[in-house]
Amino acid sequence: MRSMLKLPLLAVVAVGVAGLQTSVSSPVRAAEGGAVQEGWSPTEPYPTQEVYYPGTEALGEEEIRIIACGSGMPMPRSKQAAACFLIELGNGEKLIFDLGTGSFTTLYALGIPLDYMTKIFISHQHADHMGDLPTMWIYGMQNGRSKPLEIWGPGGGGMPDGWGMKAATDGILKFYNWMLETSKGALDTRSLAMNVTEFDWSKVNNVIYDQDGVVIRTIPAIHLEGSVSFILEWKGMKIAFSGDTLANRWWTEYAKHADLAIHEAFLPNRSFVTRYKFQPGEAIYVSTLVHTTAAVFGKVMALTEPRRAVAYHFQNDPDTLPEVVTDVRKSYDGPVDFAVDGMVWNITKDEIRTRVAMLNSQPFPPASVTERQQAPPGGEVYETPDWVLQGYEWETLPLMDQIHDEFNEEFDTDFQFPLRPAE
Ligand SMILES: [Zn+2]
Ligand SMILES: [Zn+2]
Repeated sequence: MRSMLKLPLLAVVAVGVAGLQTSVSSPVRAAEGGAVQEGWSPTEPYPTQEVYYPGTEALGEEEIRIIACGSGMPMPRSKQAAACFLIELGNGEKLIFDLGTGSFTTLYALGIPLDYMTKIFISHQHADHMGDLPTMWIYGMQNGRSKPLEIWGPGGGGMPDGWGMKAATDGILKFYNWMLETSKGALDTRSLAMNVTEFDWSKVNNVIYDQDGVVIRTIPAIHLEGSVSFILEWKGMKIAFSGDTLANRWWTEYAKHADLAIHEAFLPNRSFVTRYKFQPGEAIYVSTLVHTTAAVFGKVMALTEPRRAVAYHFQNDPDTLPEVVTDVRKSYDGPVDFAVDGMVWNITKDEIRTRVAMLNSQPFPPASVTERQQAPPGGEVYETPDWVLQGYEWETLPLMDQIHDEFNEEFDTDFQFPLRPAE
């Protein structure tokens, strides 16, 4: 993988830019030529490897950090979830572009307080672009999030009623009705609202978000209907994210010269017969009328001329990557990264640095930035029916009383186990 990344001169130009502008905590990099810095001690943090350790680097005031939290195909695999890119800005904003199946696990592994990750932009409603929205939403209450999710997604534009983002989130509420009702009063449920903004997906260069100098526009994507690509601009830098689309002229016009242009790049067409076991008719439909294969991605990037291109939405394996690279290089010779989950880009006007994060495979809930409330004041409290509780095995009652005594001792509380046999 590393040999495929184009990282020319990074070690030479990195010191003094990127995360180091305002950061005292960023790991020091090796001096030019790879020599250990003078005065470096074996008891100090090492000069950084080409690895990003989440939560250890401050972000510069004019720096963007993007983390691929899902770079693969619809069916999540342990090494690659479906589409999701976290965009962190030096003004403190954190924005999520797509939240595909399996991607919340990677977002969660970063250890970022969930109250900082509430703004979610959905390019279209395929499961590989929003399949983890229900998961991220419902598990806020157990993982320190007290704020509602803010969701931007497509609607209108001539689509039939019931096809927009609002209908989808209403459906999530219905899907989890039992879980919502039975959670009342037991946990901090303030996170369970979803504030949805539907935008007209058919508009070209349509501003859907404009806050604190951050502007996000959409252009239509050619991917069935109701699909868009996002273009984010901040501090004179531009990030373009295709979602799913055929090569299209809106993209090549409005994503032109993006600092980072993230675009789908499927495996070669024949792979849909040989690897996915599709019928040839299914294979050619999916890979030429709904999606962009690597060969076409190369041409799109030759037209887009980004500072750096990112190819995503394929199984990035030792035996697939060479085919993808070969196809891309038929028409594009500029800088390009072939995304894996955890790939990180630090972007400033001076430099774009690509690394891969060390993801924590066994995280606990990130720290909460808001004090938890077991039950919002005045809220309803759910109670399990008495006859179910009377099925309790009373032989364990002394043990449960002992557990309460120990807990009360440790936390200076006064809880009693409430269940007793009926008279
Ligand atoms: Zn799609
Ligand atoms: Zn997709």
